[in-house]
Amino acid sequence: MVNSCLCFIQFHCFPPKCLLCGAPGETHTDLCQGCIDDLIRNYIACPHCAAPLPAGTKPGTICGNCQQHEPLIHSTLSPYLFAGPMSKLIGHFKFNEELQYGALLSRLLQKEIESLQPEMPELLIPVPLHPSRLKERGFNQALELARPLAKTFDIQLDLDTLHRTRATPHQIGLQRKERIKNVRGAFEMRGGIKADHVALVDDVITTGSTLRERAGVLRKSGVSQVDVWSIARTPSS
Ligand SMILES: [Zn+2]
Ligand SMILES: [Zn+2]
Repeated sequence: MVNSCLCFIQFHCFPPKCLLCGAPGETHTDLCQGCIDDLIRNYIACPHCAAPLPAGTKPGTICGNCQQHEPLIHSTLSPYLFAGPMSKLIGHFKFNEELQYGALLSRLLQKEIESLQPEMPELLIPVPLHPSRLKERGFNQALELARPLAKTFDIQLDLDTLHRTRATPHQIGLQRKERIKNVRGAFEMRGGIKADHVALVDDVITTGSTLRERAGVLRKSGVSQVDVWSIARTPSS
């Protein structure tokens, strides 16, 4: 009752407004339908790592990279490509500290989860930043995305177990071998984990190697199913 009153007040005093063009937003979403339609979807993608696949590829096709390795990730949700207006939204959120953009991105991810209805994990783990980068940025973008999802879907958040042991340079622009080297040993578990099914939450998935490194650490500590929830995937893996 209190929640629905608050929603009513918020909706009427602060109606949603499109963060891209300023037009009235869709219900509870700070984007208008036109700008939502302009976001590029990642419809045809590898189920394990969400790598975009060529148009016309049969649904459920596994990418070459995942075929070569043991699939450590059960499924990766990454509904948009990191391109066009989506990269603008993420840029505002991550680099300008405009947290209302993070709330919008989390909301878009929530809508996607509600529509796909995946098997729900027992724990959500936002991908941690290295303490030096956290200090520099002032917030962890993955946590900003995960917190509203944990509340909406009533899933426990785990902020204590997975740690980044070193600040890794950005993966974009590196060759495949360099990317693998770049992330090797960058994560570790401190303490045990009491869950069989976990979803890692992140903003942008840049490479399959980063995903595999994080998932591998969780799998080694006994988690049998690791999923990834993210908002966008870079066009190349
Ligand atoms: Zn708009
Ligand atoms: Zn794949």
